[in-house]
Amino acid sequence: MLNLVLFGPPGAGKGTQAEFVKNKETLLHLSTGEILRREISNGTELGVEAKKWMDGGNLVPDEVVIGMIRNIIERNPDVKGFIFDGFPRTVAQAEALDIMLESMNIPISGVVSLEVGEQELTDRLLERGKVSGRVDDQDESIIANRIAVYTKNTMPLLDYYKNQEKHFGVNGTGSIEEIADRVAEAIQRIKNR
Ligand code: ADP
Repeated sequence: MLNLVLFGPPGAGKGTQAEFVKNKETLLHLSTGEILRREISNGTELGVEAKKWMDGGNLVPDEVVIGMIRNIIERNPDVKGFIFDGFPRTVAQAEALDIMLESMNIPISGVVSLEVGEQELTDRLLERGKVSGRVDDQDESIIANRIAVYTKNTMPLLDYYKNQEKHFGVNGTGSIEEIADRVAEAIQRIKNR
């Protein structure tokens, strides 16, 4: 079983790289952002609630996303592994994920962390906003808030995973292919441990 977390700030390219990894390693790709946006477009109760947080660039409450992830993990007992993208985003989420996976005897194998500077993140997100239609990509102050939320709530996870010796940093700048190669190398190191 290979369980990976693809970690990084908004705009680091987690979704793009997760697609490569998912195909190469045959993992189930779990993007909480994508799952939430699907709930929004289906007009579900969960989607209506989540949209209030997402449009301002704030985090959806922990219990909502943890419940979502738990459901999916429980419904997929036969997969080769998971690649988590955009989850966990808080220490509470990471702790809940560890408890879920340990109880099933499938702990996280490693965390690949995409490293990109703040100015490049903002530029990438504004560029994506021109085509993505995402409310949270179109306004510089919402983007700044997402990066601030990342710094305050999500960055502490770096230490959480470093303490577990599961953290693998990767330079997230350059061409998509270059970054994919670096991610693949990090995954190889995780597998060799
Ligand atoms: P990005 O990484 O570019 O911010 P995502 O699609 O991962 O894009 O997330 C978009 C939004 O969805 C977040 O700003 C947040 O509101 C919500 N979201 C996604 N994942 C989580 C999570 N694990 N916990 C809380 N909110 C989340």
